[in-house]
Parts: sequence; C-alpha cells; structure tokens
Amino acid sequence: MTPTSDSSQSGGNRHDVNGLEVTVVGGGIAGIAAATVLAERGTRVTIIERERFLGGRAGAWTERMANGDSFEMERGFHAFFRQYYNLKALLRRIDPDLSFLKPLDDYPILGPEGHVQSFSGLPRRTPLNVMVLTARTPTIGLRDLAKVNARRALEMLTFDVEKTYKRRDTMSAKDYLDSLRFPVDARRLLFDVFSHSFFNPEADMSAGELLMMFHFYFTGNPEGLVFDVADAPFSHSIWKPFERYLDRLGVRFRLGESATGVRRADGGRWLVSTEQTAIESDGVVLAVTVPALRHLVAASHDLDDPGWRSSIDSLELTLPFAVWRLWLDKPVRNGRAPFVGTTGVGQLDNISIYHLFENESREWVKSNGGSIVELHAYAVPTHYDDEALRNELLGALHVLYPETRDARIVDDHYIMAGDCPAFTPGSHAQRPGVKTPFDGVTLAGDFVKLPIPSALMERAAASGFIAANHILAKTDAAPEPVSSVSRRGILARLPV
Ligand SMILES: Cc1cc2nc3c(=O)[nH]c(=O)nc-3n(C[C@H](O)[C@H](O)[C@H](O)COP(=O)(O)OP(=O)(O)OC[C@H]3O[C@@H](n4cnc5c(N)ncnc54)[C@H](O)[C@@H]3O)c2cc1C
Repeated sequence: MTPTSDSSQSGGNRHDVNGLEVTVVGGGIAGIAAATVLAERGTRVTIIERERFLGGRAGAWTERMANGDSFEMERGFHAFFRQYYNLKALLRRIDPDLSFLKPLDDYPILGPEGHVQSFSGLPRRTPLNVMVLTARTPTIGLRDLAKVNARRALEMLTFDVEKTYKRRDTMSAKDYLDSLRFPVDARRLLFDVFSHSFFNPEADMSAGELLMMFHFYFTGNPEGLVFDVADAPFSHSIWKPFERYLDRLGVRFRLGESATGVRRADGGRWLVSTEQTAIESDGVVLAVTVPALRHLVAASHDLDDPGWRSSIDSLELTLPFAVWRLWLDKPVRNGRAPFVGTTGVGQLDNISIYHLFENESREWVKSNGGSIVELHAYAVPTHYDDEALRNELLGALHVLYPETRDARIVDDHYIMAGDCPAFTPGSHAQRPGVKTPFDGVTLAGDFVKLPIPSALMERAAASGFIAANHILAKTDAAPEPVSSVSRRGILARLPV
C-alpha cells in the first residue's frame, strides 16, 4: 500500500503474455479497473457486461429529445474527488493529464432560510480545517459549541480501520450524529447532506461507515473537500476511450450479455455461463451489482463455502435514488454555482447546472437559450411515487432558485432506480472482501470490504485493482500500486 501517492504507474510487464485467462463479469468501474490491470500484464481478458455500454452506474448512453435531437445521458452528476488516487490512476490510462476533469471552486450547501455553507479555501490540514469550518458555520455559536459532545466528536479524528468499525459498526449514523448534540441547523448543513451523499438513510447506515467517510473525505483527506467534474459526457470522455484502450490490449467484450453462473472446470479452472455461451478461464472477477451477485452465487453451487455464501446473502441494497435532468427555456441567475448540495428542502439533495461545466449541455444552451438543470434525490422513502417526488423536487428548486419558477420544461429525463449498496448498522462484520475462499475467484465493487478508507467510485476502482493483484499473484507480473489516504486519523493514538 503506498501512502498518499497519486501515482499513474501501470504495471511493469505491460503486453508480456503471462499465460493467464480471466473472465471479468461486470463492466462498471470495478470491472474495468480489474480488466485494465490484468490485460496490461498480458492476461487474456473477457468482459461480460449485461448492458450494451460500459460504465455501470457511471455509464452513459444515447437518448433522444422530443424534437429528435440526440443527447448523452448518465445517471447524472458525479464528483471526482482529488483523493480518488486509484480512480485517477485508472483514468490516466485514457487521458494521461486528466484533461477532461475540471476543478469546481466550491461545494456550497444551501439550506432553506438562505443558509449557505462553503467548503472552499479551507486549510488542508486537520484539525485546522475542522476549526476553520466550525468557525465559519453561521449556525454555530460559542454556547452551542459548549454543549457538543466533544468526546464523541473526537472520533472523527481518531479513525482507525479496525478499531472504528469494531466500536461503531452496530450503531446507526443517526444515533451517532444525535449523540454529538450539534444545533439542528448546523447539523443539517454539516452532516446530514454528507451522510445522504452515500445514498443511505442515516437511521439505517452504520456509524462506523459514516466515520470512515468523514475520514476519507475530510479529516484524513490531504487534498481538501473539493472535487473535479467531467467536462464532457462520460461516454465520450471515459467509456469509448476505455473500449478502444482495452481493445488494443486484446480484451474481448461480450456486451448485452448476462452471466448466469460459475462452475468449476478441470485443472482448477472456472467456467462462467451466460445466456449464450460458457467461457473457461483460470480466474474470475465478479464485479457486478449486489442483487446480481446474490443471484449469481445462488445459482453457482460450486461456490460452496457456507460462511462466504451467507456473507453474500447479507448484502443489501439501500433505498432508491432519483435523477431528473431538465431542459428549461429560461436561464438561471448569473453567478449560480455549477453544483450545490441542498438540505432541509424535502427530498432534494443537490442541484447541478449542467451547461456550466459540460460541453454538450453548453452547446445546447448556446443554440437554444435557457438552461439545463439536474436534480438528485438519494435514499428516497418507499412511499413516494414518481409524480409526488418530481413535484417535491421542482418545488424545492423554485424555493432555492426562484428564477426557475416561471421557466417552461422544454424536455426532461427522469431516472428512478435502486441498485446502490446498503451499509446498514452491523453490516461491516459480515461484508465480503475481495478475496474469496475459491482459488482464482475474486469480488470487486463499491460494496466490497477493503483494507483502506475509500468509497463510491474510488472504492470500485481500488477493489478492481486489488482483485487483479490477487489473481496476478500466481504469476511474476508486477502488482498494480494501490494508493490510499492515511489509514488512521491524526489522533488515532488517543485512548478514546
Ligand atoms: C445518481 C448517482 C450519483 C452518483 N454520484 C457519485 C459521485 O458524485 N461520486 C462518486 O464517487 N460516486 C458516485 N456515484 C456512485 C458510483 O456511480 C458507483 O460507486 C460506481 O459507479 C460503482 O461502480 P461498480 O463497478 O462498483 O458497480 P456498477 O457500476 O454497478 O457495475 C456493475 C456492472 O455489472 C453489470 N452486471 C450486473 N449483473 C450482471 C450480470 N449478471 N452479467 C454481466 N454484467 C452484469 C451491470 O450492468 C454493471 O455495469 C453515484 C451513483 C449514482 C447512482
């Protein structure tokens, strides 16, 4: 593990044939990370991907507007944080300077009564960043600070992968945040947005996982809580270039095909079946979504370790999310931030103004006027139907950006889906890691237990690298470097 190194190295034995054949199931970030590392070291890789496009939850596809114009759609806005070292190392394969990523200056959080929390210009060092952030939070006074449960709050600085999960995995994030005794408004601005950004509702999320997120994104993050965004649709900036890159390395794609089971074959090899064929190989990376993994394992009797099977069964999905992109006939007010987190306005979690950072949207606005606005809602309670949710999201947009009240919706694209992993209280203890009890079979994905602090796209990329390294361990190929922020908080030695 290399500490805090932002390296773009790829393994030494690039293109040397190592004699291995590996099947990667799932063409999301985790699967592509594994396939890249394996193929660069001369492994013959086949990727089986259920959809006709790569990228999984970060994938992109072509849609048509009502007037017949085509546009590239994604599951919306994604923030590429600066400490996503493994993801960035992966992306450098297709864009060595990461020129498609553009920095956003700030990540403001808007509350209903005009409250704004800014994260720009914070010192990068902990605890200075925590002190400055607290001092600039408009809703915390000295009297409030005196009431805060300092011992509990200190746990954000004493993160330790083993100890924190042991102590806090069974507690809910809500109970942990309640115990801090922060004033309601400050808590909303500082913490509620944060926990929601991982798609899990506070009451049903592990406090251990929340503390890991605080460490990874803030208190243990030397890059600061700022991020970059893609200036072009992911299809053009990431996935088409990856298809070409992997194609040059001899990777075979089976797009639009689902894996249905894994069986043992002769000589310690494995057979992955799809609806159309069966592919034999020395190794398998299962980099699929949680429900797909549960189905695959249920159908694969040769993956027969009872403890491991029950850890797969313990995996769950969290509540659904919604992404609603709107093409409006009126501009938003000058000076609107490209992206804001929101809090206290119902289900709305963030607003992005697409034409302020993405080229396809910029062109549309240049030709048609108006604006392109995207609204996200995470961990949507099950009693919402689509219409109720859309009404609430639009109402919240009108409150925060009143200039949109009389804008006409020229076109829209709405996605409501539920395939993000749950991190429920107590789930860490049972969560499966990359390594399985079966020689040659590994797991990858943003739900997998890793020895380093990481989340979302970065966890997907890191798990893919680690899965490939496990399989390569039986060859003399150099492993892919796996980078990480510090594994422990700056006060981890304190006996709290
Ligand atoms: C609305 C939204 C916003 C987000 N914003 C951010 C953000 O700002 N920052 C961030 O870091 N992350 C963000 N994420 C999370 C990020 O998208 C995921 O963490 C990441 O893409 C997960 O990658 P993965 O490879 O682990 O899984 P996936 O992308 O889910 O890949 C799994 C793949 O397996 C395929 N598959 C499933 N079953 C089969 C089968 N039987 N056979 C073959 N293939 C199969 C699927 O089609 C899929 O392509 C966001 C997610 C959403 C939904």
